[in-house]
Formats: sequence, C-alpha cells, structure tokens
Amino acid sequence: MRDNRYTVYPITETTFAIEEKTRISQGLCYLLCGKEKALLIDTGLGFKGLRETVKGLTSLPVIVANTHAHIDHIRGNHFFEEIWFHQKDKGVFALHTDRRYTRKLLGEGMPAPVQVVLGWVAKGLLSVNTSGQYHYFGDEYIFHLGEREVAVVPTPGHTPGSVCFLDRSERLLFSGDTLCEWGVLLHLTKESCSSQVFGESMQRLQSLEADFDTIWPGHHSFPVDKSYIDDYLTCARKIVQGKAQYGITKGRRCAKYNRVLITVPAKEDVNG
Ligand SMILES: [Zn+2]
Repeated sequence: MRDNRYTVYPITETTFAIEEKTRISQGLCYLLCGKEKALLIDTGLGFKGLRETVKGLTSLPVIVANTHAHIDHIRGNHFFEEIWFHQKDKGVFALHTDRRYTRKLLGEGMPAPVQVVLGWVAKGLLSVNTSGQYHYFGDEYIFHLGEREVAVVPTPGHTPGSVCFLDRSERLLFSGDTLCEWGVLLHLTKESCSSQVFGESMQRLQSLEADFDTIWPGHHSFPVDKSYIDDYLTCARKIVQGKAQYGITKGRRCAKYNRVLITVPAKEDVNG
C-alpha cells in the first residue's frame, strides 16, 4: 500500500532516501540494507505508511537508529522493535515525548494566530508512542548489517546526543539536523549546545571528509555538498569570536555566513 506522504528515492542499489511530506513538515529517513539486517536512520513524524514503505523495500529485520531524539525524527520508532540513539539525548527524548513541551516548541517565534492554527493542525501529531526496545550508544559504535558497517560519528550541537552515521563502503554520510542546506538550529535553550561545541563537531566531520562523497541530511534538499562543512565551521567560529553577522529568519535570531545560517540564543553573540 502506498502512502502519498512518503516518496522513495534510491541512492544506491541497497540505500534509499524516504521523504516524508505533510502540509506543515518535510523530513528524510534513510534505509540502508546489508546482507542480514537493514538500518533505518530516523523515522520522521511516523505515519502508518512509513512501515509499509520500509517493508516494500526490504524483508530484512529493521533496526532503527535516530540521528537525535527530536519528535520529527523519532515519532515512527514504535513501528519497529529495536531502536537506538545516543545516550546523551535521553533528556531530549523525555522533552520531545512530552506534549506540553512540543506544543510550546511548535509555536515558538510565530505570531499568536499562527500558533493557534498550528496547534490545531498538529494536535494528533504531538502524542508519541514510546513502545519498543530502546538501546543507547556512546560516542563509538558500529552497526553490523552483514557485509556492511555503519559507524556513529558524534556531532553534538543541535542536541547533545546528535550524531551522524558514516557508511565508508558506500561513501555516504547521514547528518540528521547537524548539517542541512537551510541552516542549523542551536537556539533551543534546553537542548542545544554552544557554537563552540558545534564547531568542534564540524572539525570532526572535516577530519573524516576523505571517507565520504555526499551528505544526506534530515530535512530540505538532498544530498548536500560536503563543502557546506567549511561554511558551518567558519560561521560557528565567527559566533565564538564575536565577529558574526546577525539577522532574523523565521522569527529566530541567527548568524549568517556565505550559504549557511546558525540560529543562536540571544546572549551567545559576544563570546559564545
Ligand atoms: Zn532536530
């Protein structure tokens, strides 16, 4: 059965991007098939069609790995039995499975009437089914899928437990919300790390650049050229040094550099 909220884009013979689109959101999940198991990177807002879409692509047992614990990456986790994310995102998971918190977050930065409409449209979306067997990795972990290995790369910033997943054999990096073309959000006061920490994550990705050709993000256009890592690193450094140019985007304060922007909490513009 096809769900018109999901569209599959083959990346290689055994790797698929699954785009989830609704009236108010767009996100990307990725399915990586080995010989014995398949890894589903993120589960989006998780409408019923996700499970059917994944089953239509593989009959292998599916393990879920979340790039981080935001609601728009974890809400479909319950369709699958085995679920993994970084142990440092347990606090973020608790916040994003709490409807009072996510309702506030959804309307943040928007005019009051828009908040009311959004709250109404998204009412059902804000409850999260947390069933499933949850497991947690640290900074070093490898998923063995059978003749295919996918490594965790810790990239704290957007959240403390944000990670990228590196598939060296196919030369692909999956970046979640750590790196998208549109921008990176570091302004969530209960969740985000400093620009200093995010910059260190960009340095880590730079040091691994010889191992991948393309970056597959959690939202917006895909794939992303890896030269974006340099722009994000420079932007983060400018924030830390107090030299960034600031603007407002979608009601949020952000630092802008070249093709990228980083949203920041109001007080971080001077010395990080
Ligand atoms: Zn996120």
